Amino acid sequence: MELEKTLLRKVGEAIKKFDMIRDGDRVAVGLSGGKDSVTLLEALLLLQKRAPIKFSVSAFTIEQGKFLASIKPFGEYLQARGVEWEYFKDGPSFRLLEEEPNHGCDKCSRFRRRAVYEVGKRMGANVIALGHTMDDFCESLLRNAMYTGRMAALPAVTNSAEGDFRLIRPLVYVSEAITTAYAAQLSAPVIPCGCSQKTGTVRGTLRHIFKDLESEHPFLKENLLSAMANIETSRLLDPRYLPADCGGKPASATPVNPFPVVTDM
Ligand code: SF4
Repeated sequence: MELEKTLLRKVGEAIKKFDMIRDGDRVAVGLSGGKDSVTLLEALLLLQKRAPIKFSVSAFTIEQGKFLASIKPFGEYLQARGVEWEYFKDGPSFRLLEEEPNHGCDKCSRFRRRAVYEVGKRMGANVIALGHTMDDFCESLLRNAMYTGRMAALPAVTNSAEGDFRLIRPLVYVSEAITTAYAAQLSAPVIPCGCSQKTGTVRGTLRHIFKDLESEHPFLKENLLSAMANIETSRLLDPRYLPADCGGKPASATPVNPFPVVTDM
């Protein structure tokens, strides 16, 4: 019960702070088969009953050929919960897997995004809820800074390029320690993805770094998240955000990043 209270408090806080869900919204939750997205679905179903506004909650899963087990038990779980669920086998992703078996995450995510919008439209959703956690936000910040030369993590809320959907990440304040414990409590089937077992990836490296550091600094991720909400632009190097007498220049007058970015991704 305590765990559920903590989960709902953190999800509720994110929804309120970033105005994620509004009256009349039709929210479709992207279920990956893992613990995070199923925790998100359950949290939204519980909050739906308590919220002063009306919104609907449905779910979908995009199959890109990477699940290591049948998705059937997952469908049965959702049916028992009375949740409308669409299972979408994405043909182009399967072809990609055949033609380029070693494709990277960038390409895979691009294919998934297109499929998500297709399913979202079919389901009549105007909001897509994604299960990225606090851990994902922190890893993303480090990955972008260390490997792509950008100071960026993930947007808590954004709109799709065509403006058809609001994309929300209500687990921004929720750690994977919470989703792991909560999903175990639910006894929801977890369908493993082949990628989660890959070693030698950037994600794996970052997870190791965090694990090492967190053994001595347990609130590292909370602090990183606070840092994302507390930016001192005058102590960074982007001329777009510096005063004119300290090297500041409008975006049109200067390349955004004057330093070469060295990437091994
Ligand atoms: S980890 Fe696997 S499923 Fe996830 S984006 Fe990368 S290639 Fe795709």
